[in-house]
Amino acid sequence: MSVAEGLASVRDRIARAAAAASRDPADVKLVAVSKGKPAAMIREAYALGQRDFGENYAQELTEKAAELADLPDVAWHFIGHLQSNKARHVARVAHLVQTVDSPALARELGKRAKGEGYGDGKTLAVLIEVNVGGEAQKHGASPAELGEMIAAVSAEPALALRGLMTMPPHDLEAARRAFEALASLQGLHGGRARLPELSIGMSDDLEIAIACGATLVRVGTAIFGAR
Ligand SMILES: *Cc1c(COP(=O)(O)O)cnc(C)c1O
Repeated sequence: MSVAEGLASVRDRIARAAAAASRDPADVKLVAVSKGKPAAMIREAYALGQRDFGENYAQELTEKAAELADLPDVAWHFIGHLQSNKARHVARVAHLVQTVDSPALARELGKRAKGEGYGDGKTLAVLIEVNVGGEAQKHGASPAELGEMIAAVSAEPALALRGLMTMPPHDLEAARRAFEALASLQGLHGGRARLPELSIGMSDDLEIAIACGATLVRVGTAIFGAR
């Protein structure tokens, strides 16, 4: 399967799932997850109109952003576990940091974003990653910590809180429950007015995610092939 075929098929799946959920497909943004894949594949997707790309590792993100600096309107999404010592690199290139998962990281990213020229009205957009199922091997704030997390991000003038993200379990029914749980946390903490974005779908479960209110789907394998 080529990148062109993968991208066309994922766009079609998004359109169908949005129609089935009576949602506008324009309200679901596709983030093409390019981790582990060469810059040439990103160029291929870019030539087909894809602009949002997701990367998991700060170093890989920095290298690809440099390699693709001639594509000025690429929007890089950081979707991996972010270590504080990498916050500066990510703040420099990211359009949206989807994985803020502790008050300490929010403070560090806020400080680094300031160092990169954010603040005074210009903000770095972030999502809070929530571990809705409390799975031990997963990163993310617990649902109980979410209020404190929201306060920590909101206290950083260089950051703008845009919503919530979660990594679903593999099992599709469990994924649905996780997405529904995240959507109800969104409702509990100010709703779409305060937390407009829900980043909740991947290659296997994007239809379920769109039915549950996804505004961002993060799709790797179904576009770029197996890693
Ligand atoms: C790798 C990754 C994805 C994409 O997963 P696929 O199953 O390949 O679509 C999405 N989100 C995160 C956080 C990832 O690490």
